[in-house]
Amino acid sequence: MIYLDYSATTPVLPEVLDSYNRVTNEYFGNPNSLHNLGLKSRNLLESATKQVSELLNIDVNEFCFTSGATESNNIALIGTCLANKDKGNHIIVSKLEHPSIYSIVDYLVSIGFKVSYVNNTTEGVIDFEDLKRKMNEDTILVSICAVNSETGIRQPLKTIKQVINKYNKNIIFHSDITQALGKVSINFNDFDLASASGHKIYAPKGIGLFYKKKNIKCKKIMYGTENTFHPGTPALPLIVSFSKALRITLHELDKKQEIVSRWNEKLLKKFKTYPNIKINHSKYSIPHIINISLMDIKPETFIHALERHEIYISSNTACSSGKLSTSVMALYNDKKRAETTLRISLSCLTKLEEITVFINTFNGVYEKLHSLSE
Ligand code: PMP
Repeated sequence: MIYLDYSATTPVLPEVLDSYNRVTNEYFGNPNSLHNLGLKSRNLLESATKQVSELLNIDVNEFCFTSGATESNNIALIGTCLANKDKGNHIIVSKLEHPSIYSIVDYLVSIGFKVSYVNNTTEGVIDFEDLKRKMNEDTILVSICAVNSETGIRQPLKTIKQVINKYNKNIIFHSDITQALGKVSINFNDFDLASASGHKIYAPKGIGLFYKKKNIKCKKIMYGTENTFHPGTPALPLIVSFSKALRITLHELDKKQEIVSRWNEKLLKKFKTYPNIKINHSKYSIPHIINISLMDIKPETFIHALERHEIYISSNTACSSGKLSTSVMALYNDKKRAETTLRISLSCLTKLEEITVFINTFNGVYEKLHSLSE
């Protein structure tokens, strides 16, 4: 099998799975119980939380574990809007967000908030002039992802925060960092709120992170026995898995990036040789995600043809497969280009042999399907 869909989800690392199993078996006590089994679990919970805070250079009180980035996005956007509605009812998001952000925004609009979609340049970066134009006295929140899940285009978060703060330092800046965490370095000073997910960094599914800087007003949207953003019994095996996966992923990040860049260059070089294929890429794209448009072949047909060779890639994202790529549309305003995208996403686990087999198989499948389309 050749798996090149790491941005949809990653496999769980064997050592992370070992931790998951060990914690499930040996630390089954509820961290909230008073007896010593509970205490043992509580201590482990505290040390995993401390490890995450040290790895990300954030305070233990500035984040909580959630079920994933979708939930964190809900807590961040809905919570901030509800907590700050006395100051205004306007929010701004980019045209390069994950579909979960747009669903949340639709909900916020249905309860009376107003939304503006900030334009991006042809290179995919937020158009700062448009951002300045769209902010107004009612703006309470701006949400812009760190890395676009379809094209891998990375936003200059620090500059965006500066532009926002210069206009009004009370506007809250949220970033969905799901596709950036574990791939590129992140500075948590560049935003006020953030969302991330474990299953993109080799941890199991069902665990994520919600970050909130001290003093940022965000209303809890879930209620339970604990007074936290994600109440309920802590999912200790998942939390420990997340902290371990994070430690492993962040270790020697630069070296891992170099490996991925090597595969990226090989693939781009190959894709450039096809006259009909368009590469949806800019100098801001991170090497882990390559997006191309086949133009005259349906992406579903192509994906299923590769699948027969046990090669796995995506059309746009796993969350919007089969639909027009909103990100490619926002970049090029070309419907055909946006309807025929393929996403190949890489990892430092990807091997040269896999790239070689992929390139050869891709070529065979392309020649066959392209000749049928003529
Ligand atoms: N945001 C981004 C940028 C993503 O890529 C994803 C996953 N495709 C999500 C949010 C949703 O994450 P989760 O599956 O953890 O809810």
